[in-house]
Amino acid sequence: MATFIVLLGPPGVGKGTQAKILADTKKLAHISSGDLFRENIKNQTELGKHAKSFIDKGELVPDDVTINMIRERLNRPDCEIGAILDGFPRNPAQAVALEKMLAEFNGQVKAVPYITAPESVLVERISGRWTCRANGHIYHQMFNPPKQTGVCDLDGSDLYQREDDKVETVTKRIRVYLEQTIPLVEYYRKSGKLIEVNGAQAVEQVSLDLCSAVKNIIL
Ligand code: ADP
Ligand code: ADP
Repeated sequence: MATFIVLLGPPGVGKGTQAKILADTKKLAHISSGDLFRENIKNQTELGKHAKSFIDKGELVPDDVTINMIRERLNRPDCEIGAILDGFPRNPAQAVALEKMLAEFNGQVKAVPYITAPESVLVERISGRWTCRANGHIYHQMFNPPKQTGVCDLDGSDLYQREDDKVETVTKRIRVYLEQTIPLVEYYRKSGKLIEVNGAQAVEQVSLDLCSAVKNIIL
């Protein structure tokens, strides 16, 4: 049975950073809904144009659009043995849709690490985040700077600050998280799959804690 891990946590807590590390070490696919939307926006697809109007306001993209995009991604061959899901699901309706989709190809959500940190830490992380244009690699001006300012170490593409990372939009995103995603935290807590991880530590320590949280689930 294919193994799916859902990473939960507020904006800026480090989901993308940790999802990339965990996917690399465990040889699983990494599915980031935010990256998929940003790729569509960059390529000016219809989906991208539609999603941009919500993303720029700090709101969630409607469920039907989001779920269809994820379904397409789950059908790619690299998801056959499983994936780390980062940014999806983000509300209980998306979680129910995910279970249905996974059941179609004998997959299951095995664990839901929930990474947390105080709001002041989130704001500090988001305000210094730099994202790579080509592949979404993540940097921080203080905590994880690139070797050369403005250039991705891994693929040489330019680094940019996300439009929705400006202060007003971040406040809105945190509010949306509290209203729409916290109910999902409770949903997974009830299912017994939630594992809390302290995100207010150095990247390496969060990785170690995350690895031990899933050690009985993925080898
Ligand atoms: P964050 O850094 O807040 O975790 P993401 O890159 O995951 O940001 O998401 C950026 C934006 O993309 C969100 O604010 C939202 O507009 C949209 N988005 C991402 N994932 C979803 C989802 N599962 N459902 C609806 N909208 C989403
Ligand atoms: P999310 O996907 O949850 O929005 P990211 O992984 O993009 O979060 O991280 C947000 C910002 O914080 C990035 O600039 C990243 O380099 C930085 N970051 C991530 N984890 C840590 C950490 N443990 N300590 C310090 N900075 C971090």
